[in-house]
Amino acid sequence: MGWTFTAVSFQRGGKTADVHADGNNVAWKCEECGWPVLFVYQLGRFGSSQSRATTCRGCKKTYYLSPEYGTQPEPAAGNPQAPANPMQIM
Ligand SMILES: [Zn+2]
Repeated sequence: MGWTFTAVSFQRGGKTADVHADGNNVAWKCEECGWPVLFVYQLGRFGSSQSRATTCRGCKKTYYLSPEYGTQPEPAAGNPQAPANPMQIM
């Protein structure tokens, strides 16, 4: 795992999004209904790309992170980097 969200801020629609992040995992509260929404920034995992969006279990709205996973080479293990700062919740 080379991606990290440590010390990365998140935005949703141009505003700061309050998240809880550890490594390449991010938890966020759905803006529509308040249910917890999980993003895992790995190939094929929830919220990692538009084609693998995460679906809110409360209201069924879908979200994903931008830049999407796979749009740039993953850093080598042991040298974690942020994909972008800030990250966008789409
Ligand atoms: Zn929701």
